[in-house]
Amino acid sequence: MNGITHFLVGIIITIIVWHLLSDKWAEGRNWASKEVFSIKDHPVRMVSLLRVGITSVLAFFSHIIVDGFAIFTYHPYTNFDNLFYKIWMPSILLSAAIVLLIALKKDIRYSFGMVFSIFFDLWDHSTLRVVSHLYGGADLGSLYLHQLEWAFIDRFLAWAPVLYLNPYAAVVEIMIISALLISWYLLEQRWALPNNTNYQTNKYSFIIIAALIGLWILLGEFF
Ligand SMILES: [Zn+2]
Repeated sequence: MNGITHFLVGIIITIIVWHLLSDKWAEGRNWASKEVFSIKDHPVRMVSLLRVGITSVLAFFSHIIVDGFAIFTYHPYTNFDNLFYKIWMPSILLSAAIVLLIALKKDIRYSFGMVFSIFFDLWDHSTLRVVSHLYGGADLGSLYLHQLEWAFIDRFLAWAPVLYLNPYAAVVEIMIISALLISWYLLEQRWALPNNTNYQTNKYSFIIIAALIGLWILLGEFF
């Protein structure tokens, strides 16, 4: 699926994990409230590490399922020379950039969910492409993470029609994106991330983080 869809899934995972592993949950558990280390005199507790770790792992593996279901959506691998693609592609990329910026501005902690939700693409389409280029087109076959997605499709979605080349299937992803946006809104109303009293980031750090993620995504395009 497109970046925006992965980002929204990462955001929702973040909200749910932070809600389930709340401060209240940690209160009754000595081990979870224990200080592990401190950043600039602000203690970092075990529960904070758990939230980051579990969010990252779930977001990482979410890519398999989200990309698996992309067979029901428009994801052309050929036929790029048509008006619909030329409008669709920049629009969907721009919307991903907007979601990335809005989410990071709201709360920098969304970065864990978002980065790991697209880690497969950062790795396969950017990092490995650069490495392969540097090593004269080396075959890095077994290192590609998207083979997990193909295994998922073979195992669970082998029966399904493949709509990658059908422009009308873009509607499916628009519907998924809409449902995720509504879920994000509703979840933020109910389970907003608690105030980050421990560690205050610079007001503009969200722009730097967003730019770094954007550059990492674009890295593969230069090679
Ligand atoms: Zn992917």
